[in-house]
Amino acid sequence: MAYDFDLFVIGAGSGGVRAARFAAGFGAKVAVAESRYLGGTCVNVGCVPKKLLVYGAHVADELEQAAGFGWTLEEGHFDWGTLIANKNREIERLNGIYRNLLVNSGVTLLQGHARITGANEVEVEGQRYSARHILIATGGWPQVPDIPGKELAITSNEAFYLKQLPRRVLVVGGGYIAVEFAGIFQGLGADTTLLYRGDLFLRGFDGSVRTHLKEELQKRGLDLQFNADIQRIDKLEDGSLKATLKDGRELLADCVFYATGRRPMLDNLGLENTGVELDPRGFIRVDEQYQTTAPSILAIGDVIGRVQLTPVALAEGMAVARRLFKPEQYRPVDYQNIPTAVFSQPPIGTVGLTEEQALEAGHKVQIFESRFRAMKLTLTDIQEKTLMKLVVDAETDKVLGCHMVGPDAGEIIQGLGIALKAGATKQQFDDTIGVHPTAAEEFVTMRTVTR
Ligand code: FAD
Ligand code: NDP
Repeated sequence: MAYDFDLFVIGAGSGGVRAARFAAGFGAKVAVAESRYLGGTCVNVGCVPKKLLVYGAHVADELEQAAGFGWTLEEGHFDWGTLIANKNREIERLNGIYRNLLVNSGVTLLQGHARITGANEVEVEGQRYSARHILIATGGWPQVPDIPGKELAITSNEAFYLKQLPRRVLVVGGGYIAVEFAGIFQGLGADTTLLYRGDLFLRGFDGSVRTHLKEELQKRGLDLQFNADIQRIDKLEDGSLKATLKDGRELLADCVFYATGRRPMLDNLGLENTGVELDPRGFIRVDEQYQTTAPSILAIGDVIGRVQLTPVALAEGMAVARRLFKPEQYRPVDYQNIPTAVFSQPPIGTVGLTEEQALEAGHKVQIFESRFRAMKLTLTDIQEKTLMKLVVDAETDKVLGCHMVGPDAGEIIQGLGIALKAGATKQQFDDTIGVHPTAAEEFVTMRTVTR
């Protein structure tokens, strides 16, 4: 049977664009439907605008440090409107780049909501298209618990477009987004409280990292409240919000920001017309090659709920394009040792196993840990400490995990990701000459076993 397209991609986000472009490059006839914004979450309401706001917040640190280096600065003034307008301009530029990337690779771009109407058929704006393969790359959406007053809260989607910086913010959650946005709001001058339901935020990260970040954030004056959760939110007459906690306490704020995880975006996608099954968490179930339980339909990225990171969605998109249209170049995605950063202030960089995971996996571990005040701070009064940690297998000498909290942690951890992928041993770390004077050199000079 002749189809309109070899591949119909639903969603022009990180994974969808990558799959579409590469598939078209391999000679396939490809369409992409996008209902909202080109580039998806990462470009519009995720990684990119988030990092720009983090840079904005970080300027406050630079200003604070300036006096130690002899600079006298007048009282600074921050204007939220300017930052958001400049950010929006950059996002529009990126939207244009994504459009060109798709069109120039020969992909047919369809603007509108796509709904699957059969195993090989998709409807966009009343028009039906047939395709040999359909790829679902529809991403995720913020999830807010169902409490009274939840409509008064915002999520990351709205935070990027706030008209003004709220004076008092309550951030709810203890994952990437909560920690990053608490840093943004606080760095830009808002009175910020982070509420997390458990004992310590960033569940799943290395224990030393979690504790260290907690201490550093507290030093910066961020109000961290653990074992705290909101029961209801009410709007008061003066417009402020009252959050009543489960323990009965009441907190006042101008903005309640929820970052309590993301659900797969399956709204009106037409899955009932297919044999696509969901896993117990509600994400699309796929096999190792991203095929769903319906043979002609594949899924990648946040909607499969494996690792919700842009570089992972990109790798999955590439894998699908190769498997379908260039099988001789197919390589499965390697989910081991994925480096990642949390752009908190200070940031976290991490790759490989945490100490807890290594022990749980039965490794006999040696831990190398170092805490120091970064050289840049020695001329200032700032007492922030950097943490670096190596988790090493005591029997094989292999480095199992590298963890850092401190300036440029994301930049530093990328290179260590390659070392871990290559199976580097602690001896090889030790044999590597450091770059002096940097913070990064500490990773190759830690000689004494901490425990
Ligand atoms: P998405 O990028 O979400 O793209 C899905 C696209 O599908 C969207 O454009 C959507 O409009 C479209 N769509 C949905 N349904 C339909 C439909 N029925 N018809 C047509 N179009 C549809 N990751 C990192 O690696 N680093 C970071 O620093 C980082 N920061 C983040 C910060 C925030 C605030 C958030 C929310 C996420 C962040 N992420 C980060 C995660 C990253 O953004 C996602 O993992 C990534 O975007 C997933 O890509 P995707 O292709 O699966 O989906
Ligand atoms: P996460 O899954 O990382 O964190 C969700 C947080 O919300 C957890 O602390 C969780 O607590 C808490 N939570 C969940 N449900 C509730 C509830 N009902 N009430 C109170 N608290 C709740 O999600 P995020 O929204 O922070 O981010 C989504 C994903 O996006 C991340 O996992 C990451 O993959 C990606 N991302 C990546 C970034 C980066 O690379 N720098 C930046 C931002 C996002 P508990 O731990 O107890 O379950």
